[in-house]
Amino acid sequence: MQRLDESLRRQLLLHDAAYVGKPFPLKGDIAVAIQANVRHLALLLLNTEIADRASRAAAFCGALIEAVRETHIKEQVACARGCFHCCTTYVSTSLPEVFNLARAVRGKVGTEARIHDAAARARAMPQLQREVTRVICPILEEQACSEYAARPVVCRAVLSTSLESCLRIFQQGGREPFPSPASLGGLRSYVVMILRAALRLAELPHQNFELTHALTIALTVPDSEARWLAGENIFAGVAMDQMELQDSPINKIVEGLAGAVRPTI
Ligand code: SF4
Repeated sequence: MQRLDESLRRQLLLHDAAYVGKPFPLKGDIAVAIQANVRHLALLLLNTEIADRASRAAAFCGALIEAVRETHIKEQVACARGCFHCCTTYVSTSLPEVFNLARAVRGKVGTEARIHDAAARARAMPQLQREVTRVICPILEEQACSEYAARPVVCRAVLSTSLESCLRIFQQGGREPFPSPASLGGLRSYVVMILRAALRLAELPHQNFELTHALTIALTVPDSEARWLAGENIFAGVAMDQMELQDSPINKIVEGLAGAVRPTI
């Protein structure tokens, strides 16, 4: 499809300002709002003058899901400081989020050492085993996330409406569905799709990986973010989330979204 004329693209960006980084509606203008956020993130990721643009894209998505969550989730949640049952499971995350978290923990010697240990444990287990084996996240300190402001979208989207259910799932290995507010999964999917579509438009990998091993690479490879942004496959040895190998309907939606936005950037 042909690229939109420059003056129209400028007008579109002015129009986008009403939606970028704002809680999007769940009806009506949702497609317009989603495309505005994809366009914003794609242009950020394509701006080679911004060295930490991957981390910034992740930070943007973190703030976006918080804003959307605050606007749309009205149910009473059971989560509270000091409750960390869900911080013991497999964490699947995008690579920009890995860089954002790496920049928050870089130089914190104790945290870095815990990340390397946790990565070694995660690498020693197949993903399915890791998902049911309780391993405390290395970012957790004094029963709270020590990098709350830089935690990945998946962590921000885990909200429980029942502590009793969490105890059965995380302490007793119960197989019941996670007790989330009804619309939370959909909200998370929208934010994930926005980031994935923008990464596709910037021709960067959009898949999710296991958090701790990916963090180890981001922390130990010199200039990791710059090299990844330049196209170097520094995460070649990190296991991709097995869900990426399945034909998910989200991938088709992301492809369509990227296709719709491409002529406008
Ligand atoms: S990053 Fe923070 S919120 Fe996410 S699993 Fe680790 S400690 Fe928990």
